[in-house]
Amino acid sequence: MTRKSKAKPNGKKPVAEEKKVYLEPEYTKSRITDFGFKELVVLPREIDLNEWLASNTTTFFHHVNLQYSTISEFCTGEACQTMAVCNTQYYWYDERGKKVKCTAPQYVDFVMSSVQKLVTDEDVFPTKYGREFPSSFESLVKKICKYLFHVLAHIYSSHFKETLALELHGHLNTLYVHFILFAREFNLLDPKETAVMDDLTEVLCGSGGGGGRGGGDGAGGAAGAQNHVKER
Ligand SMILES: [Zn+2]
Repeated sequence: MTRKSKAKPNGKKPVAEEKKVYLEPEYTKSRITDFGFKELVVLPREIDLNEWLASNTTTFFHHVNLQYSTISEFCTGEACQTMAVCNTQYYWYDERGKKVKCTAPQYVDFVMSSVQKLVTDEDVFPTKYGREFPSSFESLVKKICKYLFHVLAHIYSSHFKETLALELHGHLNTLYVHFILFAREFNLLDPKETAVMDDLTEVLCGSGGGGGRGGGDGAGGAAGAQNHVKER
């Protein structure tokens, strides 16, 4: 399997293969709810697909932003000189497609401000009755999901210890499972993109779209899903 943005040898010491604390069973078991996310992410029959993608994407953006904010004081330009996830390094590309070298907090700042701009743009995420979604909507949602994934993956790979100390790993795992199952349901993330976290995804979500609990909580899932729409 190839990773497209592997850290290049640049004279720096190679990052030692650190033990992935977030894979330890005592932590991967931690959740804030037993909810069956597999049922929750499915498009409810009476709801428009784009509306569903829009409201969920907006909600994930707010939750990822909040989760990052809990460790942001530790994610400094010195501690995280690059936007690294395990041995993969991400670069930001500006509006003209120019590669920008930046620290992790700068990268996250670029992500949050560009996503904020998109989800509050009435031409991209229309909220008023009768306004249409643009033809580029799905590709923009995919782009947002890719960025949010990078932020979540960075929290796991670089700030899991701090998350543990704050006892917020249950929140992080729950958000991750919900987000990954949602993205999987609507093919919003490129498997090549998420390969860097496959070991965690496998443990938390199962490989073939598992992760949900069979039967029994379908009704609760649907009610929760409708609440999500009202949140917008
Ligand atoms: Zn960081």
